Amino acid sequence: MNIRLFKPSLGKEELDEIKSSFDESWIGLGPKVDEFEKKWSKFIGCKESIAVNSATAALHLALRCFDFPEGSKVLVPTNTFSATASAVLYNNLVPVFVDSNEETLGIDLDDLKKKYDKDCVAVMPVHYTGHPVAMDLLVPWARSKNLAIIEDCAHTVRGMYKGKYLGNWGDIGCFSFEEKKCMTTGDGGMLCSNNSELVRDVKAYRWVGIDKDNWKTAKEYTKKNKDALHWFYELRVLGYKYNMNDLAASIGLAQLNKVEEMNSKRSKLIVQYMEGLEKLNIEPLLPFKPKEFVYQMFGIRHKSRDDLIVFLKSKGIATGCHYTPLHMQPLFKQFEGNCPNAEKIYPSMITLPLHVDLSSEDISHILSSLSEFSK
Ligand SMILES: *Cc1c(COP(=O)(O)O)cnc(C)c1O
Repeated sequence: MNIRLFKPSLGKEELDEIKSSFDESWIGLGPKVDEFEKKWSKFIGCKESIAVNSATAALHLALRCFDFPEGSKVLVPTNTFSATASAVLYNNLVPVFVDSNEETLGIDLDDLKKKYDKDCVAVMPVHYTGHPVAMDLLVPWARSKNLAIIEDCAHTVRGMYKGKYLGNWGDIGCFSFEEKKCMTTGDGGMLCSNNSELVRDVKAYRWVGIDKDNWKTAKEYTKKNKDALHWFYELRVLGYKYNMNDLAASIGLAQLNKVEEMNSKRSKLIVQYMEGLEKLNIEPLLPFKPKEFVYQMFGIRHKSRDDLIVFLKSKGIATGCHYTPLHMQPLFKQFEGNCPNAEKIYPSMITLPLHVDLSSEDISHILSSLSEFSK
């Protein structure tokens, strides 16, 4: 028995899409990326979608859009992956770490209000595991303080909160298609917005400063007259090499067709976990609502975390801990971060396997191993 913690679900459909890019001999930034972006916008109901090579890149560029003065502060939850806070540093801004809500482990709104001061320019809520932050409360408060809102949606795909898809609540939403996430492109990310003016330069930022669809030019220039200027481009902004390529977009297009089905499989697995845990009297990591929301991760809280991790390993079950609070990391220690809830709960956090190819027998094995450990 060897149960992985995360695992992408891939098949023939992805290979077929990749093959069609091979057949066209176009595997860089090209028509598949464009198609993926258009379908994504429809999928989560946003106006603009720009595909990049990671959510880390999307978060970097999302903050870049605002041109905040160097040294301004950005409110970030301490319980998140490093990328959320690294994006702040990439932009020469200063992270202020906000404590976790004791129940949901998402950004705590009371602490958020406490940590705010007039040097803060943005807030980056993370829908941790896929459990939505109470955006109906966060957004009006953040607007009243004139804060930009960047949603880190790396743990969810098409999760909905109070009738609106996550990623649409703030100014910009960022998604991850890294291989462990709800859907994958190998590596990849998407930056979404309903404010076209705000994200106007993102296509240039992601592609070395060039805001021009070269693949379109290449297809057309043979036909065009001498005025076509197919070779001309202007550099106005400093760009990065952050574009998604057509191989990744091929995988993404195939995954997009399966994501509803994959989400419902995840939801069923979590229901099975929750029913089993209740019988065992083991506390879930947070109040998961698998029938309402879309989760990338599942876990429990356990007072003997480290022994349990070793025990589960002996049963062939991979586990993890998401995350060591960022304010405790050497890189981030120098920044403001008094987060007692996160520090208190962190030693009990265990992430359990969750991916589409898990079987109900796998979950039964995990549950009976948990039961065995309890005895
Ligand atoms: C995975 C993750 C990211 C970064 O995603 P990449 O696509 O790997 O760059 C950002 N934020 C959170 C919360 C994540 O879990």
